[in-house]
Amino acid sequence: MRNDDEVEPESGQPVSDDRYEVLIIKYGTRETVRSDVYLNYGVYGVPDAPIRMDYFVWVIRNDARTVLVDTGFSAKGGADRQRDTVLPPVEAWDRLGITPESAPDIVVTHAHYDHTGHLAHFPASTIRMARAEFEFWTGPHAHHPLFHHSAQDEDLAGLVAAEAEGRVAFFEDRLDLAPGIEVLRLGGHTPGQAVVIVQTSDGPVLLASDAVHYLEEYEDALPFMSVANLVDMYAGFDSIRALVDAGAVRHLVPGHDPATLDRFEPYGDPLAGFAAVIGRRS
Ligand SMILES: [Zn+2]
Repeated sequence: MRNDDEVEPESGQPVSDDRYEVLIIKYGTRETVRSDVYLNYGVYGVPDAPIRMDYFVWVIRNDARTVLVDTGFSAKGGADRQRDTVLPPVEAWDRLGITPESAPDIVVTHAHYDHTGHLAHFPASTIRMARAEFEFWTGPHAHHPLFHHSAQDEDLAGLVAAEAEGRVAFFEDRLDLAPGIEVLRLGGHTPGQAVVIVQTSDGPVLLASDAVHYLEEYEDALPFMSVANLVDMYAGFDSIRALVDAGAVRHLVPGHDPATLDRFEPYGDPLAGFAAVIGRRS
């Protein structure tokens, strides 16, 4: 429960300054099969089966600040791949009162099309991303079809333009974005794939984005089909497991798992049916 009058005895800062609510917002979906999700699925010797993939954006906020984690796929990026939009991310932010003028910091966990689609909606925001991610997508290997099929050229061009404007703040392997918000680069899925650890009243939350698409991907060590470095991907699972075992993570939020909204408290209005919340403030 939030209590504005509560203060840390040592720092004298309001508790709410470094504790947040984390919103998990479903904006898209598709039906697919497990062999199109997991790398070399035939190796496991089990039958193929249908699986759903949901698409999310995340919002971290308290009275002091709002941070967006990823910006979904654009209408074109989704249509190019026959993905269904269930709630346009821009509408979700509008309903939450998150305006372009408020220029929230935006963490780009990686530069795939379904995570960078609406950066242009926030032309004054600072974009936080791993340097390795930007260098990969502006480097000599990004054009290969096995990488490029997950990227949207106009989104990448927008990132390059933002960098030229001085609006991209790079980090190397980790970033203390704000009190209670830490960003870690795990790599694997993409060279700069990052995760975000957020402190909430309900314990620390790991927004895994695509370091973990599905909970079973992490629990059973099933690498995703799109991968830049397979060893780093397995090592990323281990890094997350170490954080969970150490108590540094209480809630693991995967990037695309359709079970996610049911695992956490429904957010209700103004995003009823589309969002869950961890560490709700009221
Ligand atoms: Zn994704």
